[in-house]
Amino acid sequence: MNNRNHAGRMPDLQERNRMRRILIVEDEFVNRELLKAYLEDKYELLIAETGAEALEAVRKHFDTLSLVMLDLILPDMHGLDILREIKQDPDLSRIPVIVLTGDTESEVESLNIGASDFISKPYPRVEVILARIRRSIELSENRDLIRGTELDQLTGLYNREYFYRYAEQYDLYHREEDTDALVVDINHFRLINERYGKAYADVVLQQLGAGLLAAVKENGGIVCRREADTFQVYCPHREDYESFAEEVTAAASEGLKGRIRTRIGVYSRVDKSIDMERRFDLAKSAADTIRNSFSVSVAVYDNALHEKEVYAERLLDDFQEALTQKQFTVFFQPKYDIRPEAPVLSGAEALVRWKHPELGMISPGVFIPLFENNGLIRDLDNYVWREAAAQIRRWKDTLGHAVPVSVNVSRIDMLDPELTETLRNLVKENRLEYGDLHLEITESAYTQDAEHIIQIVSGLRELGFKIEMDDFGSGYSSLNMISTLPIDALKLDMLFIRTAFSEKGNIRMLEISLEISRCLSVPMIAEGVETEEQMLTLKRMGCDIVQGYYFSKPVPAEEFERFLIQN
Ligand code: C2E
Ligand code: CA
Ligand code: CA
Repeated sequence: MNNRNHAGRMPDLQERNRMRRILIVEDEFVNRELLKAYLEDKYELLIAETGAEALEAVRKHFDTLSLVMLDLILPDMHGLDILREIKQDPDLSRIPVIVLTGDTESEVESLNIGASDFISKPYPRVEVILARIRRSIELSENRDLIRGTELDQLTGLYNREYFYRYAEQYDLYHREEDTDALVVDINHFRLINERYGKAYADVVLQQLGAGLLAAVKENGGIVCRREADTFQVYCPHREDYESFAEEVTAAASEGLKGRIRTRIGVYSRVDKSIDMERRFDLAKSAADTIRNSFSVSVAVYDNALHEKEVYAERLLDDFQEALTQKQFTVFFQPKYDIRPEAPVLSGAEALVRWKHPELGMISPGVFIPLFENNGLIRDLDNYVWREAAAQIRRWKDTLGHAVPVSVNVSRIDMLDPELTETLRNLVKENRLEYGDLHLEITESAYTQDAEHIIQIVSGLRELGFKIEMDDFGSGYSSLNMISTLPIDALKLDMLFIRTAFSEKGNIRMLEISLEISRCLSVPMIAEGVETEEQMLTLKRMGCDIVQGYYFSKPVPAEEFERFLIQN
């Protein structure tokens, strides 16, 4: 335990004193014993009788020493030289030193060199000594604490909170100036970490920090580390950040195994009426737009982006009301079994639509990813599943039959501990068979948290639900992994159909996918099939089930009845 440890509980004063370490440097027997007697039940004491011993002890215990009490007259060295040594060494300089002296001349000099206090000889009353010791230690600890919270430990830059305060201050001094807010991220930092280890990655961060600091020293501005591998810069406006990016990455890459690459988001000529944090959030959103780009390293925040964000916020705000007002409708898109001579209706996929009273019809491609990021997807999906289940019941009642309906289960839903119970209740409440509901789970869900998902999916399957792996081919599951997954059908990602039937016409991937489904003995479903040619080719290649505009777009429930009746 030492005084650098700020994170834990603050022990009370008694307890703290007992734990603190003091080095006493004193060659005279009587003085030494006196100090020992005064202090030994309150502090842990280290004793040095010569200058050499003292320096050795300070170096050895520098990170746990709370105080040095230093006699100026020693047999081998002058105490002031020891003091100088301590105060000039960056590792040691934070340790407070109280000088013990009978000579008033040295008092001033020792304070100038950096002593925190002095105690004159002959010694004053014990209470005075104890009070001075306590005060020196406290002062130095408070200073450590301020430094520790103001600065990021690793890079020595401001941390985020203090940065915002300094940025406000910066504004005060540069009222008339155009200012830019920058967010700088290291590309693939996670990979650097994994590949070269934490120590190396720390060096990368330090060098980038230093590079940014050098840049603002030259041109003005302030820097901080926002978090992990993200830095922020607030600086005078400039037009060209390409060369800035060049300089900074070059500085940061010096001596490293490869050139690191950064992406910089710029919110140019900030609107000083908006919140400081928000300015950097806007810069960050610009940086995020080039997250996966290899060729672009600078993105400037623009209004289109802003409008997109405002739109997204609007959708989030409107969600609850939309749910209670039933603005969400479930459409159904037929799936056809193409193995027989004439295709046979074999099921449907439930796809949600949002009829927004002011914004019109909104595609799930827009709002699903948004709701997945905000935990709203669970409520929406529960609603869609309920609607789908109730619809199957109605068809069974009015037409005497229905087809299995597959519903989309988002990867976020898989984290819901009540998922199985919810689905089971739907089946019970609507008096359905488990086979009436198929569950589409996207491939990437499996690769993210395989073990957990496999466990849940296996349970659902044991109940009797059929599981379809959605967007197959878009994730990165290995063959090895797929062969162990609990699934009943593969649903090929639409992109495969697109590429197979594009101008270059690469159908090899399609063939391989079909071979995989054959190996696993599960049917292959192709979606996004738009033309007769595509359908016939797929049929010839051995694809089992087809969904797509060729047969029908997703349609409202009443319209879907037509397919059921034809069946
Ligand atoms: P998905 O599950 O891959 O659904 C297939 C998408 O392809 C649907 O888009 C469908 O309308 C569209 N599609 C079907 N046939 C064709 C075709 O021949 N050509 C073309 N170009 N497109 C076709 P949609 O309805 O816009 O849904 C987009 C995505 O939103 C879905 O992709 C799914 O991931 C998600 N989604 C839709 N409804 C729900 C839902 O209720 N819950 C969840 N979690 N996600 C949903
Ligand atoms: Ca789907
Ligand atoms: Ca899909």
